[in-house]
Amino acid sequence: MIEVIARPKKRLFLALILASLCLATLSTYGLWMVSFPGLANISAYLPVILGILLAVVLLSIGIGVGGIILTILGFSTLSFFQGPAWSSIQLLFPLAIRIGKCFDVEKERVERSFIEVSNHLIHAKCIKVKPDNLLILTPHCIQQESCQFKVTHDIGNCRQCGACQVGELLNISRKYGVHVAISTGGTLARKIIKTLRPHAVLAIACERDLTSGIQDVFPLPVIGVLNERPNGPCCNTRIDIKRVEKAVQDFIAESESRTLS
Ligand code: SF4
Repeated sequence: MIEVIARPKKRLFLALILASLCLATLSTYGLWMVSFPGLANISAYLPVILGILLAVVLLSIGIGVGGIILTILGFSTLSFFQGPAWSSIQLLFPLAIRIGKCFDVEKERVERSFIEVSNHLIHAKCIKVKPDNLLILTPHCIQQESCQFKVTHDIGNCRQCGACQVGELLNISRKYGVHVAISTGGTLARKIIKTLRPHAVLAIACERDLTSGIQDVFPLPVIGVLNERPNGPCCNTRIDIKRVEKAVQDFIAESESRTLS
């Protein structure tokens, strides 16, 4: 059965992250109130010190969430917001997923919305890198299952027969001079990044892998492109190759692109 993916909306993730922030603030306040008498018995200063510490943490998260919302609304925010913004996402994301579940919102929908927000934040930074510093990373389920060539070790082994899109990625790699690698899992993906040390990554994967990958490699900028699963998960997956090429063009400086010979 062909999987139809609805266009992700950034506002879903933003609403859930705001709700998570409110819930975290209320819970923290409740915990502080409950612990107040016990702490006051030990020292009159303890509840105040704890209160200030918690308020600082919540304020930093609030600044991060505010930074994300301002960027999405089109305001240019200072790079100062980037750190708190990503820390807020990492802290509040699990809570956002749980709140979504309470309202019957699928985890995958929240993840798609997060990827859209994350891509927007990266675009807003207008990052340009040299082609040699850009890595396209894709899972090996993009390879035709029956293909006998070992492209995970070296994508150059692909014969570009047209049975899958590995050959098209190889074309993009040669056209723009960017790296492209096929990984069999998160560990290999991390190893590839460690070896190549790219300045930016264009990651192709499913919702779950993109969400964890983007958060794992922060502060490395990652643009996420969701794959298509016409044959179900992890089997002969497809990608919108035009979107991939456009993302490559956006990342590399104009003068750096090369023409396919
Ligand atoms: S395009 Fe490359 S990887 Fe895909 S089936 Fe053909 S030879 Fe194998």
